[in-house]
Amino acid sequence: SVVTRFAPSPTGFLHIGGARTALFNLLFARHHGGKFLLRIEDTDKARSTQAAIDAILDGMTWLDLNWDGDVVYQSQRAARHAEVAEALLASGHAYRCYATPEELAELREAQRAAKQPMRYDGRWRDRAPGPEQDGKPFAVRLKAPRDGETVIDDLVQGRVVVQNSELDDMILLRSDGTPTYMLAVVVDDHDMGVTHVIRGDDHLNNAFRQLGIIRAMGWPEPAYAHIPLIHGSDGAKLSKRHGALGVDAYRDELGILPEALSNYLLRLGWGHGDAEIISRAQATEWFDIGGVGRSPSRFDLKKLENLNGHYLREADDARLAALAAPRIAAVLGRALTDADLALVGRAMPELKPRAKNLHEIADGAMFLFASRPLVMEEKAAALLEGDGTRLLGLVHERLTAVTDWSAEALDAGVRAVAEAEGIGLGKVAQPLRAALTGRTTSPGIFDVLVLLGRDESLARLADRLA
Ligand code: GLU
Repeated sequence: SVVTRFAPSPTGFLHIGGARTALFNLLFARHHGGKFLLRIEDTDKARSTQAAIDAILDGMTWLDLNWDGDVVYQSQRAARHAEVAEALLASGHAYRCYATPEELAELREAQRAAKQPMRYDGRWRDRAPGPEQDGKPFAVRLKAPRDGETVIDDLVQGRVVVQNSELDDMILLRSDGTPTYMLAVVVDDHDMGVTHVIRGDDHLNNAFRQLGIIRAMGWPEPAYAHIPLIHGSDGAKLSKRHGALGVDAYRDELGILPEALSNYLLRLGWGHGDAEIISRAQATEWFDIGGVGRSPSRFDLKKLENLNGHYLREADDARLAALAAPRIAAVLGRALTDADLALVGRAMPELKPRAKNLHEIADGAMFLFASRPLVMEEKAAALLEGDGTRLLGLVHERLTAVTDWSAEALDAGVRAVAEAEGIGLGKVAQPLRAALTGRTTSPGIFDVLVLLGRDESLARLADRLA
């Protein structure tokens, strides 16, 4: 049965390219009723950090990219990697190379000068070490086939062929006994039972080398699917200036919902007809590698925000209130009480329809907590000059008489003022909105009145009339 894996190197945050790779692996496994595993490739001790590991686990959990079983840490498997290198030595598929760093540097220099491709020349391939090599450090190299070609029928890239003469005898174990990345990946994939390697196409070249080790061990070969990388909207490789942020930044800085980012990443490089809004359940049912395109996809923040808007409108109001709460609290400089949270939840049907992210929702909710007298935006203040204040006075008088503080009763009251003045409802609503929220845009004015309640509403009006 199918086993896939996501194998990030914890040298930075979980970026969206990685998250998409994880998502494709998850969906492929789930679609086939198989397993999706997670391996942290932390062999590069100098560059791997615990913070990066935490960010990866955290980001995957947030995006609901749930892996099966325990996380495998590659660094803990070094003994097993060395064991496989020993097995390859024993079977004659690998050999000890005593070339010194100076020697290899010289070789590279000569190749550079001759404008030849730089690769190891196999000088220890068929040479038995003599007594002078006793106790000298050596690397273990794969005895790679020199003739013929290696073919990969990649599920995304199609048939890719490399001449074996182009693949040199790569190092499996360094002279300090540590395994190379190439060896570690192959051994771990094999031991984890991985049947399908789905990853970025920047690893396509590695696949040919990795196959060399797999074949030397006589292990089953996984199927490969190398997916095109994500590019920026200008077609260049995705970088920070395109929004190649960590997944956590989409959550915290951009206020994106996980289901929106997940849907967006799915559509980035994979399609099913012209479906745009695709639930995880639907994606699991539909996902196939054949739907992955061969050309790089372009990241488009606008599209992501549009999708996010859709998911915000679908999302539960109490959940959105809880997600907006820390953003509101940050502006207020105090934590929200349960009553505050409930109020934001009640306002949510009015706040979410036009919002594209959680910041806009939080911003839209600020009027609920503004302290009196309100700080007025310039345009709002302008609405209260001249006749605006007179109209506000009439509304205040009328609403003071309203005891049943319902949207219907308030609507009737404000409308009566407009009719008596012979003007449109909007003319009255504008100064009213300015006085209640300090702004020129807000949820519907009767909803604002109901949400603020009678006392607070009348007090805010009175502040402007004083
Ligand atoms: N650790 C590699 C990376 O982060 C991925 C290796 C693989 O998927 O085979 O790019």
